[in-house]
Amino acid sequence: MAQKKIIIIGGGVAGLSAGIYARLNGFDSEIVEIHSLAGGLCTAWYRKQYRFDYSVQWLVGTRYGTFFNTYKETNVINDDVKILNADFHTRMVLPDGSDFLVYANIDKWQEYLLEKAPEDEKAIKKMCKDMHSCRYLNSFDLAPSLRNPLHYIKALFDSFPTLMTIVKYRKKSFYDYVSNLKFKNDWLRNSLLSLYGNTDFSAVAFLLILGWYTNKNAGYPIGGSLALAERMYKRYTDLGGKFTFKKEVKDIIVENNVAKGVVLDDGTVLEADYVISAGDGYNTIFNLLKGKYTSSKVKSSYEKWSPFCSFVQVSFGVNKKLETKYPVQLVLATGRKIGSTVLSQFYRILNYNFDNTMAPENKTCIVIRFDSPYDQWKNMDRNSEEYKQEKERIKADALKILDENYPGSSEFVEICDIATPLTTVRYTKAWKGSYEGFRPTSKNITDQLSLTLPGLDKFYMVGHWLFPGGGIPPSIQSGKWAIQMICKKEKVKFINNDK
Ligand SMILES: Cc1cc2nc3c(=O)[nH]c(=O)nc-3n(C[C@H](O)[C@H](O)[C@H](O)COP(=O)(O)OP(=O)(O)OC[C@H]3O[C@@H](n4cnc5c(N)ncnc54)[C@H](O)[C@@H]3O)c2cc1C
Repeated sequence: MAQKKIIIIGGGVAGLSAGIYARLNGFDSEIVEIHSLAGGLCTAWYRKQYRFDYSVQWLVGTRYGTFFNTYKETNVINDDVKILNADFHTRMVLPDGSDFLVYANIDKWQEYLLEKAPEDEKAIKKMCKDMHSCRYLNSFDLAPSLRNPLHYIKALFDSFPTLMTIVKYRKKSFYDYVSNLKFKNDWLRNSLLSLYGNTDFSAVAFLLILGWYTNKNAGYPIGGSLALAERMYKRYTDLGGKFTFKKEVKDIIVENNVAKGVVLDDGTVLEADYVISAGDGYNTIFNLLKGKYTSSKVKSSYEKWSPFCSFVQVSFGVNKKLETKYPVQLVLATGRKIGSTVLSQFYRILNYNFDNTMAPENKTCIVIRFDSPYDQWKNMDRNSEEYKQEKERIKADALKILDENYPGSSEFVEICDIATPLTTVRYTKAWKGSYEGFRPTSKNITDQLSLTLPGLDKFYMVGHWLFPGGGIPPSIQSGKWAIQMICKKEKVKFINNDK
């Protein structure tokens, strides 16, 4: 019997995952991707001998758990991949030049905070206790529609303290959570509140982060984003998967409410037994499917949930070893201008010296990132003089920032690369230039969108738009879920490995 064919729109990590499990389960699989590289947002690019990374700084599931198992199956992690566990989550630089450290370990952070603000012992210990209770979360290996009550009972048993804390704080913003702790020390309270600004960032998301770090289950895979994507691509093509580069899916063929294939930008029609979209959520639902298969939940999510703010990345290749104890720094600079963008709060400066595959010996990759709303960019033509001049202004301002953080280093800059929100959209079609789907807030943190759309058969959606907070782990897991669901429909046993 001929193999059934699955077409996958988009070759980011979610699409690659779906493709790998499709091949493991004997389906004919073809991934169609706009870009000339696999990986989507999980990528990097070479300039001179430098590699400028775009995505992974921390990857939940690098040591154990459901995500870890899925990484092993998809070659995200193998025995040759070195995982680095950071000592610090972030160093925040305050306007007076002093710092506020966030350790990558709850107990060390507690010790540091108690030393700085002994008067807040009770509140500090309460916050750290809440974080400790968030160390037991494991994700489901099985797609939501395939679970039975026993799966939920087991999850309750395994993750009980974490689930209780999630229930308690799920409707709280980080701002409210910190305010309710009533810290007496102004420095501590203001520093904490500055971590996520005045936005409705979920308190639960904050509490979970240091739990993962403390468990050493959120490391950084040496080689970074591109190497991760290349390993997945290798796994997929080794299994016989087909990958079509530089083609955009312009239409999804639907007959009698059943997905039958896709039409590419050159007019090619690809027929399929199943279609999986691992591309941008908004484009898939409202353009490719013309908004015909939505529910009130889907519509209200895209109307009410905010995507992560788009950002500008300035990458410098510096012909000098720049040393730092703090690879990731948040510098508070509300109101400062970089190019035409007025910072709403801070910029990030990353020193990639912790990964010696990024730059040649004795040289350094420095990356500066700052939020820059998509509305500021959306009408700009990237071939225009206006765009070129804006990039020049950004470069001049970023060089000053480089010198402020690493005095005298701008004269060693060999190469400067600027990626704007228009770059993100051009290469990935990400809605409004969001780099991780929807922001996790007190309104959506425990919510997910379904892999299926109402009324449309043989069609699945995967990737970070399904999960507020997004990120690589759930994106990869959702690719596996889609194939589990297809196997169930085909009445074949799902296989997760070929070994
Ligand atoms: C600066 C930055 C830092 C990040 N840090 C982290 C981190 O530390 N940890 C973490 O877990 N995550 C991080 N992320 C987020 C993570 O990279 C993403 O959430 C994840 O890669 C999303 O994968 P995806 O496959 O769902 O989507 P995408 O990567 O967006 O892939 C979608 C793919 O589909 C293609 N496509 C779209 N439409 C079409 C079409 N019509 N036809 C053909 N192809 C199409 C696109 O070109 C793209 O390749 C970061 C991202 C960025 C940018």
